This record gives sequence, C-alpha cells and structure tokens, in this order.
Amino acid sequence: MILAKPGYLPTIGLEVHIQLATRSKLFCSCSAKVFGEPPNSSICPVCTGQPGALPVLNAGAVELALRAALALQCQVHPTSVFARKNYFYPDLPKNYQISQYESPLAEKGLWEIPGSPTKKIRITRLHLEEDAGKLLHTVGREALEYSLVDFNRSGIPLIEIVSEPDLTGAEEAFRYLTALKSAMQYLEVSRCDMEKGELRCDVNLSVSESSSRLGTKVEIKNLNSFRSVKDAIQHEIERQSQMLRTGARILQETRLWNAQGGLTESMRSKEEAHDYRYFPDPDLPPLQLNPKKIEEVRSSLPELPASRKNRLQTEYLLSEPEAQVLTLTKPLADFFERGAQHLKAPAPKAPDHSTLVRDFSNSLVNELLGKLHAENLEIESSPVGPEFLAALILLRTERNLPQKIIKDILEAAFQKKEKALLQEDPATARKTAEAWIQNVGIISDSNSLTPLIRQALFENHQAAEDFRAGKEQALSALVGSVMKKTSGKANPQQVNQLLREALGKK
Ligand SMILES: [Zn+2]
Repeated sequence: MILAKPGYLPTIGLEVHIQLATRSKLFCSCSAKVFGEPPNSSICPVCTGQPGALPVLNAGAVELALRAALALQCQVHPTSVFARKNYFYPDLPKNYQISQYESPLAEKGLWEIPGSPTKKIRITRLHLEEDAGKLLHTVGREALEYSLVDFNRSGIPLIEIVSEPDLTGAEEAFRYLTALKSAMQYLEVSRCDMEKGELRCDVNLSVSESSSRLGTKVEIKNLNSFRSVKDAIQHEIERQSQMLRTGARILQETRLWNAQGGLTESMRSKEEAHDYRYFPDPDLPPLQLNPKKIEEVRSSLPELPASRKNRLQTEYLLSEPEAQVLTLTKPLADFFERGAQHLKAPAPKAPDHSTLVRDFSNSLVNELLGKLHAENLEIESSPVGPEFLAALILLRTERNLPQKIIKDILEAAFQKKEKALLQEDPATARKTAEAWIQNVGIISDSNSLTPLIRQALFENHQAAEDFRAGKEQALSALVGSVMKKTSGKANPQQVNQLLREALGKK
C-alpha cells in the first residue's frame, strides 16, 4: 500500500493598511486628497515634522476607524493611546511614526469570508496610524542617480487591520482581502483603490509538518495588488515546503515579493529587525471614546455585502453566484436595485417580475460590465443609468425585440455618452430608450419597411424584372438596396421575405 506523502500545512496572517477617506490628514488640516497632485503641495509644519509643531487629532478619521472596527465585530476600547514608533527613513521627517501600540483602538474581531463553506477569520487588532511620505527614485547614469521626497502622503490617516493566522492558502487570503475591501467600500471608510496605494498588505506565513506546532514565520512585503498577494503566498508555500522536504532550516526574516521574477527575496533577517522603541506620544492625549458615541456609530452602520447578498437572493429570486457578483461593490448593488425597482411588468402577456429582473441582471453583468471592463471604467462612470437600462429591458420584452439590440445600443451609448442616458426619471428614461431603439436598434415593423421596399423596387426596376423572370440572384441587389436605406438596421432575412411577398413569390 502506498501512503500519501504528508502535506505541509501553511498558516497565514495578513496585515492590511487602509487609507481612510477623510478630507484632511490625521493630525493637521492639509488635504488628504493628494494622489496625482504636484509633489509637496499639501504639506505643513505638522506633517513635515517641524520643531514645535503640534498634532491635533482628526475626529473624522476616528469615526471611520470606529465604523471599520465595529463592522469587523471588534471590541472597541473606550481609551486608546497614540505611540511613537521610532525609526529613521528619509520619507519620515519626524524620525517617528505616530501609531497605536500597546493600547490600540480595537481588538478581538471576527470577519466572515463568504463562500461555501463560509470561513471565520479572527481579527487580532485594528489601530489608527499616519502614513509616511514617498520617495521618488530617478534612474539614470550612476553619477546622476538621486532620490526625491514627496511629503504629500505624510500624515494621511490609515487603519491597520491585523488578522490571526487563520488563513490556510492563497485562494483563501484572496477571498479574505476581496471581502474586506468590499466591506470598507460599503462602509465608505475607504475607496480602497490599490493603484493609488489606498490598500496595502503584508503577509505573515509559515509552513509546518503538524498542526500542533507552528513553523518559522516569514514576513512578505511589497505586495501592491491582490494578484501579487496570491502569487507570493503560493510561491512562499512552495519554497518553504521544499526547504522542509530537504531538511533545510527556514530563517525568520522579512522578504520582498519580486513580481517580475515571480519569487520572494530576502530583505532582512530577524537580527536586522528594527527595534522601534515605542513610547506614548507626549503631544497627544489618550483617545477617549464615549460609549454612547460607539453605540451611535454601531447603529448607523450600513447593510454589509454578505447580508445584502442574502437579501437580493430572497427579494429578487437571484441565484447565489448572481447575487455574489451584484453585491461585489456597493455602487454596483445600488445600480442593480435602482434598475430592478422600475421593472414593473407591462401588458397582460408580460413575463413575471423575476424574469425581467433576470434579464436586467444578465444585461448588467454580461453586457454593461463587460463594456465597462473593456474600457477600464467603474460602474460609477457608466454612460448609461439603471433607469435607462431597465427601460430598454422592458421595451425589448414588450416589443419582442432581439437580445442583440441591448448590446448594439450600449455599444453606441459608450461612443456618444449622452447626458439623457443617465436620466433618473423612469418616464423620461423610457422616452430616451424608445428614441434609441428607433435610431440605433433594428427596424422590424413592416409599416416602416414597406415604403422602403416599394422605393427599392421602383429604383431597381430591372433587378425586379430579372427576379420575376426566375433569376434568383437578382434578389440580393434588391435586399442590398433596402438595407442601405435603413442604414443596416433592418433584419436582412425579414427584408428578403418582404421583397419576395411584394414580387409575388413566397
Ligand atoms: Zn499638514
């Protein structure tokens, strides 16, 4: 009997940094909306660490951090303390970062990853801290190489969410991050745009031979997309398993993800690790939260993705995967629900509401999201609104138009980008949709086609005679002529049929 080779068990915890969507920075009134702004255009003595400058805590940032902590079911501490995390780096003018250490804002949370089965991940802690500046490295001839520093990002509020090592693989970590990001967007805590660095993640990973004893922990940094988190975890599990298989010792160290090479590389060992010499910041009083305030924020939390998904399934009779896709982001779920409420069943022979909803959801996911994705746009920048798409679905059903018409109209809408397509009033949206079907859509009623057929027969008298005399191919010239008159918007088969009828040959 061949025994299966024992597998190695990965244990993974994540540290996620999320920039809060406040107007101003954490300890000064400088604007926090700095992405793409000229370097050092949003700075002051506080966020550049000038001597004597005093920090003042931004209450808005505290409220957003509190929303996140409560949504993650954390225990919020009525008192938390800001500490100085001391280290030197050119993007940190104070030589310390203001963070929370021994007394964080919140601890002991629980976050459920949706899926079958769902999985619960324990949250170790959630604390507030400030972001550092940014170095810009020039690449040139060696003698001309230098680095510039931009302090715009310095002092932007962050929350750090640390999870217990409850994750067991790359796919699970990916699902955890996706659910976390979606929740933060629903909560309007952060936009979580990774390309702008609004969500960053470090991975702690170890691999062991038995579940009773953990392996040596390795930290992976420099992960700037969910994709790289997934790839780095996969690679690191394989690297460590391979080392254990060959009897090599795994070092406790920090490694960097090299996306181009598809591997992690050693950055520093445990011996080289920083000693941050944390101590409470004497310039900032402890952060006190009134229990009444905590309860106020708790009761104002919006519906989160998981419960919205369940509600959409029961309310609109959607399948689980459909509801999952539609609730991925709040704007998408809002788009769906706004449109779905206008899908009132028309006329007596109309299909029921759930069929219309399914049509609407299919067009939204397959056609509209597909187009948006191709143009690298989010649903918020869609050139058509939910009322217009709902009106199209209704008109298509009422008039029995081909499915392709939705695709054609969306195609044209992306090119024209008319304001009227975003009209929220359902009656106006319907009028606009009717006009677009007329202009862009397929001309299928014979009342519109008959005069064009007559005209084509008159203009192509000889071809008509030839066809009557039995020359079958003469018909194609007549079809071509009618198609030209409709700018290609008629159904050629229908035109063919109508021409045959007009020429007395069925
Ligand atoms: Zn400032």
